[in-house]
Amino acid sequence: MLNAHGAPRLLPTTHLRKIAGLVWAERRLYLVGTFFVVVSIGTGLGYPQVVRLIIDQGVQAGHLHQLNQLALIMVGIVLVEAVATFVRDYCFNLGAERVAARLRRKVFDTLLVQDIEFFDSRDTGEITTRLSADVPLLQYVLGEELGDAIRFSVFALCGTGLLFYTSPQLTMLTLLAVPPIVIATSMLGRRVKALAADVQQAQADAGAAASEIVSGIRTVRAFSQEAAEGARYDREVARALEFARRKIVAAAELGGVSFIAGECAALLAIWIGGSLIVTGRLTTGALISFILYALLVARGFRNASRFSAESLRAAGATQWIFELLGRTAHIPPEGGEKPADLDGSIVFDAIRFRYPTRPEVEALKGIDLRIEPGEVVAVVGRSGAGKSTLLNLILRFYDPNEGRVLVGGRDVRELDPTWFRRDIATVLQEPTLFSRSVAENISYGVRGADDQQIAVAAGLACADEFIHRLPGGYATPIGDRGVQLSGGQRQRLAIARAVLRRPKILVLDEATSALDAELESVVQEALRALDYRPTTLIIAHRLSTVTCVDRVIVLDGGRVVEAGRHDQLIHTSTFYRQLVQTQLVAQ
Ligand code: ADP
Repeated sequence: MLNAHGAPRLLPTTHLRKIAGLVWAERRLYLVGTFFVVVSIGTGLGYPQVVRLIIDQGVQAGHLHQLNQLALIMVGIVLVEAVATFVRDYCFNLGAERVAARLRRKVFDTLLVQDIEFFDSRDTGEITTRLSADVPLLQYVLGEELGDAIRFSVFALCGTGLLFYTSPQLTMLTLLAVPPIVIATSMLGRRVKALAADVQQAQADAGAAASEIVSGIRTVRAFSQEAAEGARYDREVARALEFARRKIVAAAELGGVSFIAGECAALLAIWIGGSLIVTGRLTTGALISFILYALLVARGFRNASRFSAESLRAAGATQWIFELLGRTAHIPPEGGEKPADLDGSIVFDAIRFRYPTRPEVEALKGIDLRIEPGEVVAVVGRSGAGKSTLLNLILRFYDPNEGRVLVGGRDVRELDPTWFRRDIATVLQEPTLFSRSVAENISYGVRGADDQQIAVAAGLACADEFIHRLPGGYATPIGDRGVQLSGGQRQRLAIARAVLRRPKILVLDEATSALDAELESVVQEALRALDYRPTTLIIAHRLSTVTCVDRVIVLDGGRVVEAGRHDQLIHTSTFYRQLVQTQLVAQ
């Protein structure tokens, strides 16, 4: 489950393995980067040794020539370190960018194949915000931060060895700083991780609110709800900010503890080391190099602990992503049979169905229905009767809880979903168009359709006359979801898009809005003009539609209550008569 506010539930090892897999895919960059990290470790560790030599053999021994030579070596070390840092940052940061891009693509591909049920329970805004906001946190820890962490971890370890070499007693004292850092990291780190997950979720909620408000801006404006919606977004942002504040406190506490522990150890070393020099048991150069190593070790531990906090934060934030990547859809997008001889028949065989997000309501309560190839059927019923649910099952957006849906005589569960959906075209009440050109919208889903075919489809849908009047004709962009077109124009494009597919099954969801009259004549003309007869299923809201179809199916409360021709039913069924009088709009 992709749950939100709780503590992380995924096993860190699975999570880690997936991250490691992504990094492995960019191993060339990371390996080159690591090589230069090793180079900079060498220079970093060599530096205090040279300082020691400068003081003991140059300054204190009074050898100017040696001092000059050692100073030149220092310059060399600094230059090598500069080059190594440059290459390391380049490799790690580019590697992290590539990992992030790969991860985004993977997450998006996984999203696209999720069941429709997945989208029923999530906001689009939440999904898109997460896609853009969660990945950068992981990218951050996999970039130069990772290079630094490797470097400082090695510093911490090698530095400790060199400290022992320089002065074992002093080292034992300095290492007193390690246990508090380890304890603080593990305690506070866990808190940081859980809070990071909360921050991301809260930001995703804010994103969801924003996208809902922006996409519904016309309604917001019409109801003068700008201030209320602004306040709603403010609340969401404030909530995210509060979680972020708590996370920052936890992370800062972690940094503070490491800092104090590290500095105390260095001060202790200066104090004890000073007394060792006074008693003649340590040279000044050795103490200075010891202090430089001690600072290096302290920095190493501090950096490693900060990095581990950042990693935990990234792990918390990307938990959603990795849970999503681990999800497999119940209805796979591909795979299954592709029989060549499917006809356009549709059968509902003892179908019972509840929406997964609303299990308490049985949307379809035992539907038995057979629609012959080429038949034109209207489904009527009150709102909530289950009409749209029938369409959802034909398209296999969901699987029924009981019974079978057969398309072309075959159980849809046996068929390759992507393949059989190609034979079905839908025109919905509110057709979804994309922010592309007119031609691209018409040829949506029909790969390789040429201009001629697109123009013919547009002609059938009576869309060509308004397309020609557009400034760029078929190349005109139609704006986000087709906002630059009228409702009737959008529907005509949707009809053209459906007709271009030459579907065996055509599904039309009529609207009760004012565009109906326009749509109706257009659809009927388009259907008459086709050189074949697709099986046509219409969710009908108008009397004029039901009077001219082969059969009317009357649904009520998830059951088929009547079926027959309109002129029969109007005489035989009181329920139908009432429905016609109250629900169907006469044209
Ligand atoms: P109609 O198209 O006849 O108006 P629907 O088929 O849309 O009716 O709805 C049938 C029942 O299923 C209703 O109770 C409705 O609330 C419910 N329903 C429809 N779509 C969903 C969904 N995506 N998730 C949960 N419940 C749904």
